[in-house]
Amino acid sequence: MTLVDTRTPNPKYFISGATGDWEMVIGMEVHAQVTSESKLFSGSSTEFGRPPNSNVSFVDAAMPGMLPVINDECVRQAVRTGLGLKAQINKRSVFDRKNYFYPDLPQGYQISQFKDPIVGEGKVLLDLGEDGEVEIGIERLHLEQDAGKSIHDQHPNMSFVDLNRSGVALMEIVSKPDLRSSDEAKAYLSKLRTILRYLGTCDGNMEQGSMRADINVSVRRPGGDFGTRCEIKNVNSVRFAGQAIEYEARRQIDILEDGGAIDQETRLFDPKSGQTRSMRSKEEAHDYRYFPDPDLLPLEFDDAFVAELAKGLPELPDEKRQRFIETYGISHYDASVLVTDRESADFFEAVAKGRDGKLAANWVINEYFGRLNKEGHSIAESPVSADQLGGIIDLIANGEISGKIAKDLFEIVWTEGGDPAEVVQARGMKQVSDTGAIEKIVDDIIAGNPGQVEAVKNKPGLLGWFVGQVMKQTGGKANPQAVNAILKDKLGLD
Ligand code: ADP
Ligand code: MG
Repeated sequence: MTLVDTRTPNPKYFISGATGDWEMVIGMEVHAQVTSESKLFSGSSTEFGRPPNSNVSFVDAAMPGMLPVINDECVRQAVRTGLGLKAQINKRSVFDRKNYFYPDLPQGYQISQFKDPIVGEGKVLLDLGEDGEVEIGIERLHLEQDAGKSIHDQHPNMSFVDLNRSGVALMEIVSKPDLRSSDEAKAYLSKLRTILRYLGTCDGNMEQGSMRADINVSVRRPGGDFGTRCEIKNVNSVRFAGQAIEYEARRQIDILEDGGAIDQETRLFDPKSGQTRSMRSKEEAHDYRYFPDPDLLPLEFDDAFVAELAKGLPELPDEKRQRFIETYGISHYDASVLVTDRESADFFEAVAKGRDGKLAANWVINEYFGRLNKEGHSIAESPVSADQLGGIIDLIANGEISGKIAKDLFEIVWTEGGDPAEVVQARGMKQVSDTGAIEKIVDDIIAGNPGQVEAVKNKPGLLGWFVGQVMKQTGGKANPQAVNAILKDKLGLD
């Protein structure tokens, strides 16, 4: 790949060393398991968690004479993903053999795509909060097979091999070296995962290994020439990615400042120690002796095939966020939070439809998501439905309950269920907006507390004390606006 620097150095990201400032350069190769019932070149199931070697056909076990047959669904998923990454779709691509020996790779080669991948250049937009948005370039996306798994911890002097994963379709998504900090790298992984999940082309479950990142890290003087990189293999969480990058950048800076040079090598991150260690020196493409797989024709499709898939794409997070801002009048920040996954976005829309968007966003994000997080629940497991939350918001909007009572009501609906309006009725939680009733209470308080009435004239902050008294006597049910207005009037404050 020809390396082009698309970024202006941001001093916020500089790392100070003994000899001056340094800047990280990061590029990622993400392996994303294609969501598909069967493998890339065989009909075996891809189901996760089956007993070892139960999802293995003769093709996956590389029995002599077996022929791979391309799975159309995997092709469609790769094209969908390319479209979601706003990328060039290559109507002709080629499968190559990448030769290497591994006990869990019975073919002795991996079928991958080398010179002619199915998807070319694209982009991913990162939202960096106050630093605005930045575009991270995608170099390519290609299809390839996964390998099996060696198991070393089940027998004292034997290793086992599980071929369930052997032949499962992966998309390798290669970014340009456009990332400049561990935070950007984490944001990139999260955003990519969000996009894949929206598209339904990869489940993005990093802890199950459906998405893994090889992270290339180098350091340089800010804005200077690209340095020699190291590749950290198979990082399987966003948090680990951040830790691995921080450690690795520091390690490289220390070597360079001591007058040393970086060896281009493959390293592993150990989450226990938080360090990376060398695994092997970097192999070159010619070591793999790539050549077109003679068992497979080049993969070809036409514009109509791509257009059909484009038509079926869901609304993606960036577009959804824009629409939320425009339709519901909510902030950029709130909209970003709401579109991080489809379930959250759908839930918000179900609540916000026909209601005050800002009020809905506030309740969904703060009360509802806050409560879900606290309980470790997903939306599907939530005891409060969008209808119920909408019902609570309606009661606030109609002035029937105050925001404070609404929180109590939310608690009741969460733990006991029920229709919010009925709960309010049954428990007498309705807000008192009847000014006559409030005036009567205010008069009593003023009559009973001459000292405070005198004091509030010079210390308007004391008004809060009066409000508190009224709330106490009404069980928090007095309409706060009405209370304030009546108090100010009767106390002669403006
Ligand atoms: P290879 O062919 O060895 O896999 P590529 O040129 O395809 O190398 O790049 C692999 C990954 O490394 C890409 O994600 C790319 O952005 C990243 N990369 C390339 N050069 C650098 C560099 N100097 N520093 C950090 N990342 C880099
Ligand atoms: Mg590569």
